[in-house]
Amino acid sequence: MSRPAQAIIDLAALRHNYRLVNNIDPASQTMAVIKANGYAHGAVEVAQALEGLAPAFGVSSIEEGLALRKAGITTPILLLQGLYNRDELQIALIQHFWIVVQNQLQLQMLTEAVLDKPLNVWLKVDTGMHRLGFQLSEAEQAYTALTQSSNVADNLVLATHLACADELDNDFTHQQLVAFKQFCQGKPEQTSIANSAGLLGWPEAKSDWDRAGLILYGASPFLYEHEIASQLQPVMTLKSGIIALRKVEKGERVGYGGIWQAQRQSLIATVSIGYADGYPRVTANGTPVLVHGQKAPIAGRVSMDMIGVDVTDIHNVAIGDEVTLWGDSLNINEVAIGAQTLSYDLLAGMPARVPRIYINR
Ligand SMILES: *Cc1c(COP(=O)(O)O)cnc(C)c1O
Repeated sequence: MSRPAQAIIDLAALRHNYRLVNNIDPASQTMAVIKANGYAHGAVEVAQALEGLAPAFGVSSIEEGLALRKAGITTPILLLQGLYNRDELQIALIQHFWIVVQNQLQLQMLTEAVLDKPLNVWLKVDTGMHRLGFQLSEAEQAYTALTQSSNVADNLVLATHLACADELDNDFTHQQLVAFKQFCQGKPEQTSIANSAGLLGWPEAKSDWDRAGLILYGASPFLYEHEIASQLQPVMTLKSGIIALRKVEKGERVGYGGIWQAQRQSLIATVSIGYADGYPRVTANGTPVLVHGQKAPIAGRVSMDMIGVDVTDIHNVAIGDEVTLWGDSLNINEVAIGAQTLSYDLLAGMPARVPRIYINR
């Protein structure tokens, strides 16, 4: 017997989500963003499942790109943060990496280099996120430098990133779109704007290249109902099992600090999952898990590798029974709310300790 904590990764759901997302805007190309080890689903497995479907992958760093090439992935890979130093230019050329150019230093490195062949470049423009990209005042000059450089291939892409696209009533997205479209006016290059929330929520954010991350993994960037988001299938299901059961009397407490107190005689299941397994310590009492397909609330502070669950209202619970923490039939956003965070954080934070079990339903 091994520990029951497992992350089941459904690669058929991943492909379903890719096709669904790609169909939102059939005229555009949808890059699959698989940085941070594919939001901790396993970048190699995710890339293998999407190779042939996705025209390009997005990763953060050259290391993440090299890991994919080492595994035999041949699809173009965009380095979303660009290069960190000069030596990486040759590697990018050899490995068919596309590079973002997002600051003056990267621009200088690229235009001053002596390269055998030009690189595929995405010029990042800062329209209000204020994280990466050229400010609008310097973007024209960067654009001119790139279009005149023999180190830059003809298929330059103009890109920006939205700061507030998950808030559909926030006018800031509109302001970013106006600023970006103004910059792109009269320029023949392809453009790229939307992340998951942009793709689902902002029709004007669709452009030649969409960059989809979260929604490929089956989570919605919105906390309210959304028609297309409701058709996504969760890729990661976090599961574990009950390893102990006890009755506690009214007034007795459960777990560290005794922060949960029984309001009635209760049946408490101890489940083998905790904050060392990516289930956040701050998760509030009452956050649901699934036992026998029914919701049951967590009871007491999350420990390093255990939680308490109040299973008083569920029939015939036994040691060994399976428990779902999120994923199949339990929306990860419900857990994210209980943990005061986002599904992004829960998924990407899944540590290596939890075995990944790949299925292809
Ligand atoms: C991570 C990332 C994305 C994907 O964002 P999601 O919200 O997960 O879809 C898109 N573009 C850039 C530049 C990113 O860094």
